[in-house]
Amino acid sequence: MIEDKNQQRTPLSGFGEFGLIDHLTKNFKINQSSTIKGIGDDAAVLNFENKKIVITTDLLVEGVHFDLSYMPLKHLGYKAVVVNLSDVYAMNAKATQITVSIAVSNRFPVEALEDIYAGIETAAKIYDIDVIGGDTTSSTTGLLISITAIGEVEDEVYRNGAKPKDLLVVTGDLGAAFMGLQVLEREKEVYKVNPNSQPDLEPYTYIIERQLKPEARKDIIKLLKDLDVKPTSMIDISDGLSSEIIHLCKQSNVGCDLYEDKIPLDPQVISTCEEFNIDSTTVALNGGEDYELLFTISQSDFPKIQANPNFSVIGYMKEANEGMHLVTRADSKIPIKAQGWKNFND
Ligand code: ADP
Ligand code: MG
Repeated sequence: MIEDKNQQRTPLSGFGEFGLIDHLTKNFKINQSSTIKGIGDDAAVLNFENKKIVITTDLLVEGVHFDLSYMPLKHLGYKAVVVNLSDVYAMNAKATQITVSIAVSNRFPVEALEDIYAGIETAAKIYDIDVIGGDTTSSTTGLLISITAIGEVEDEVYRNGAKPKDLLVVTGDLGAAFMGLQVLEREKEVYKVNPNSQPDLEPYTYIIERQLKPEARKDIIKLLKDLDVKPTSMIDISDGLSSEIIHLCKQSNVGCDLYEDKIPLDPQVISTCEEFNIDSTTVALNGGEDYELLFTISQSDFPKIQANPNFSVIGYMKEANEGMHLVTRADSKIPIKAQGWKNFND
């Protein structure tokens, strides 16, 4: 759909495995003082002195987590890195290194891997992390990318520290990535019928960007530190606000009231929801892939975040036996259920 059909296609078989790895990784530089040895030996060597380390990994599978008919490969590489870094930041940690493992079938030319690596390289630069290794192998079916991210942390924040009366806070706005996906899926269907149609995506630029090129909230970790706020619990929003709230509540053994009218929505999400006739609150609750941070703070920290446009206070925590509820605009209370975006259309 958005692909360039005239591009060169060099077969992967033209490279030996080592030639290919060298070719793809030749531009990666080492910037972190904790990286002693990066790509090139049997293993990377890191030295974090006395710091605590966080480590997290994600596997992305073609046809399950991404669709190459509208996901440009450069964006895929970028997004694969970002979704991992988001997990590091959700621990209140600083991301420092990643490893990248890729399985590809021979239907992908060298240029496809170059594009993926261009995206990985851009993300590595922007987020200031070193790419220190990985693995490259063949796959009989589609494309798989697994990334492992490493970070260092002084004051880690778990999911389990929320207390009754803590405020529930979210960064940025919600639901945009899901609505961007709805627009891309619709255009894909149009394209199938008429490959010459030129979609007008202008009214959807923000939400499509949120789907194809999400960002992880590295800035928030610094901001919280500068504001001298340590969240009592934290999680990143990958599956949707509802399921992340449930994770925080269950692990912290608390309940929660979430206020519908406080959920931050971009105007483009609201207008696209109207166009698709979908309820915007449902999208914010169940859409997912926002990669914003959801956290709780003690009420005494409220003045520190109050005026900051990065943060929305969307609710507060209660005793566990009071349950988890959405307080609607009409002031009725609905139990919060995890739906997750995968079964969202059922
Ligand atoms: P091994 O046979 O020991 O697994 P490889 O030949 O696969 O070694 O890897 C050689 C070096 O290249 C290692 O440092 C490895 O981490 C790195 N590497 C392999 N594949 C990738 C990749 N896709 N991206 C980044 N680094 C890679
Ligand atoms: Mg290997």
